[in-house]
Amino acid sequence: MGSTLLQKVWDLHDVRRLPTGQTQLFIGLHLVHEVTSPQAFDMLRLRGQHLAFPDRTFATVDHIVPTDGQLRPFADDMAEQMMAALERNCREFGVPLFGLDSDEQGIVHVIGPELGLTQPGMTIACGDSHTSTHGAFGAVAFGIGTSQVRDVLASQCLAMEPLKVRRILVDGRLAPGVYAKDVILAIIRRLGVQGGVGFAYEYAGPVVERMTMDERMTLCNMSIEGGARAGYVNPDDTTFAYLKGRRFAPSGEAFERAVAWWRSMASDADAAYDHEIHLDGDALRPMVTWGINPGQSAAIDERVPGPSDVADGDRAGVADALAYMGLEAGAAVAGTKVDVAFIGSCTNGRLSDLQEAARIVRGRRIARHVRGLVVPGSKRVRDAAEREGLHEVFREAGFEWREAGCSMCLAMNPDRLDGREMCASSSNRNFKGRQGSPTGRTLLMSPAMVAAAAVAGEVTDVRRMLGQGSGS
Ligand code: SF4
Repeated sequence: MGSTLLQKVWDLHDVRRLPTGQTQLFIGLHLVHEVTSPQAFDMLRLRGQHLAFPDRTFATVDHIVPTDGQLRPFADDMAEQMMAALERNCREFGVPLFGLDSDEQGIVHVIGPELGLTQPGMTIACGDSHTSTHGAFGAVAFGIGTSQVRDVLASQCLAMEPLKVRRILVDGRLAPGVYAKDVILAIIRRLGVQGGVGFAYEYAGPVVERMTMDERMTLCNMSIEGGARAGYVNPDDTTFAYLKGRRFAPSGEAFERAVAWWRSMASDADAAYDHEIHLDGDALRPMVTWGINPGQSAAIDERVPGPSDVADGDRAGVADALAYMGLEAGAAVAGTKVDVAFIGSCTNGRLSDLQEAARIVRGRRIARHVRGLVVPGSKRVRDAAEREGLHEVFREAGFEWREAGCSMCLAMNPDRLDGREMCASSSNRNFKGRQGSPTGRTLLMSPAMVAAAAVAGEVTDVRRMLGQGSGS
């Protein structure tokens, strides 16, 4: 019987079995940012330790950076201190930093792949939950906490529980206006936000095989929102074509050798899985969350459920979600008024996301009452979008065009919701208060759906706007 990619990668990085039953796993790439690293570096300093593998460690700044101007010192003293600490730590410990003065700064999960640091067959760790993004390349990638950041800095290893593998096959073909974001929201809705606990998700099937790397990153990014410890797609020609020529990818003959090895890391045809499900890609429609976790979602033509529509154990959660969101059970999802539209984040802040959103807003204006932000995931994305004139498309439509950063994905920089504002967001979490206001509300959806909501001033079916713009 063959092996899954997870098993192959795990075995290759297995240092030893710990008395706890955990595996001491070697980490091939450690990505660091300003929020979860200061205490970890301080702990190293206190113990007089150095980095075990500084050449496998890279840093950037993303969570706290203002996106409406990046002049130092930042107005927010706490953000300035975090930035200064990262700069000092990187200097002292010999870590390359893609800081604000670098053309390669951006959200950690956007720049890793862009730079070719993320490669198939690797183990990757980063102090951010959405590190699962890197699984799109056939890597096994874990989000970790600050004490684990310290462990990886000091030893390049993590103590990990063994994982089961669930294969999720997405059959058929997605209709126009249905995106990777809709696929992952539909998966989380079906399996639940705890459904992946103890698992890695392997995404496969014709829909996934046809996806671009940007789309696979969106899919893997939200694995963690379904409770999975990691998510991945087997590496294939799409993966190799993306990596070719990237700054840290092998080049020349080394690239050809790497491709042969990367290919061998894919799950074998006769690999056994702990669980398997199929999803009908033909039947998927644009998805929107109506609640306070990413599993509480509905297709655009559905209605918001009420407590009586769900199992006993879920009733209180649904009632709580409806009360917080101010939505009525039985109300149509379409037509929910939005105040803010946010296009960005490590889920959907890549060039193809901006291209798709621009396709919707080109030749249109966003509704008068809507505040719209487009925040590229990295400086490279921003530059590439500007070369295509996308910034002008967004500005002419009434959006603000911002600098790269995490922005409104979470409340660690000046981009925040005010009061009860309702935000159509291309990010990954709709928890209470996630976007900075303790009463602010988040509706997760694809970037194209956010663009459509911004134009309509309310949640609407993006499929109605496709092909109806000004003709480009
Ligand atoms: S965009 Fe959001 S999820 Fe992604 S790295 Fe930034 S804060 Fe984390």
